[in-house]
Amino acid sequence: MELDDEERFLSGLMAPTVFTVARPNIDWTSVEAFEKQEAVWRRGTGVTDADNLVELAGRVCYLSFGDRQSPRTNAEYITNLINRGHESVLEHASWTLVLTGVSRAFTHQLVRHRVGFSYSQLSQQYHTEERARFIEPSWIARNPERQTEWRHAILRAHEAYMALIAEERADAIAPEKLSERESLRARRSAARSLLPAATETKIVVSANARALRHFLAERGAIEGDEEMRVVSARLLEHIRGDAPALFADYRIEIMADGSPVVRQHSSS
Ligand SMILES: Cc1cc2nc3c(=O)[nH]c(=O)nc-3n(C[C@H](O)[C@H](O)[C@H](O)COP(=O)(O)OP(=O)(O)OC[C@H]3O[C@@H](n4cnc5c(N)ncnc54)[C@H](O)[C@@H]3O)c2cc1C
Repeated sequence: MELDDEERFLSGLMAPTVFTVARPNIDWTSVEAFEKQEAVWRRGTGVTDADNLVELAGRVCYLSFGDRQSPRTNAEYITNLINRGHESVLEHASWTLVLTGVSRAFTHQLVRHRVGFSYSQLSQQYHTEERARFIEPSWIARNPERQTEWRHAILRAHEAYMALIAEERADAIAPEKLSERESLRARRSAARSLLPAATETKIVVSANARALRHFLAERGAIEGDEEMRVVSARLLEHIRGDAPALFADYRIEIMADGSPVVRQHSSS
């Protein structure tokens, strides 16, 4: 089904969506078996699996179970690990998230985060962008004149993409005789070079708590990068319910224009 021109544009403030498809999940039967071998772990109540997992990993380092436990709560235990720089323990808690409604410009920045992250992204060689949508920055949306120019440029680029995709003579793009599959790849590869960085994409991201904390600290509060801030805030909204202690020092604040920013506050 054809999209009309209006349907092609998604608001950079509203479009990013995060789906948490996997999260930390403790096998308590195994933990109990471990306790029988070692000592009973005196746990707080109401602590999530993600926060407990990190505490468990930290306690194994010092075998501080039972009589050897300090009276710290889980939140205090995790804050102490972070303050002492014993952050490798945070790597045991990890999530898999699907991000949609984000631009290729955004994911290009995201995938620069190498340590503790894994990615699988929608291909522009195996998937056609005939029904592509585009992420519109809210600064553009607030300026009607600029918005008209911007949308026109995007639609023009997409029209040119469609013309190349429709090119039936493969040899018009690739000189050698190619299989049907490789000919399609050649056309899509040539055609995608015309697509704007605003093109919507989807990406699966697996990341551990340490890596996510680093990403949020580095990227969450860059005031001029709205999409990065919006996605950072959505990410934090999703993961902090699973791990309130691990992300206790990060807050979502609202800027004067109503868009979110993620700031790290020192924990004590
Ligand atoms: C404001 C801003 C502007 C930027 N501008 C540009 C730009 O103009 N051009 C550009 O190319 N990139 C730019 N970047 C991207 C930036 O350089 C990083 O590639 C990106 O932010 C990922 O950060 P990272 O390397 O800390 O993350 P990760 O790759 O996840 O690494 C995490 C941490 O692991 C350690 N580490 C990782 N790899 C190594 C290594 N090989 N050796 C030693 N230690 C390592 C470091 O401590 C690092 O902080 C910019 C980033 C920001 C936030």
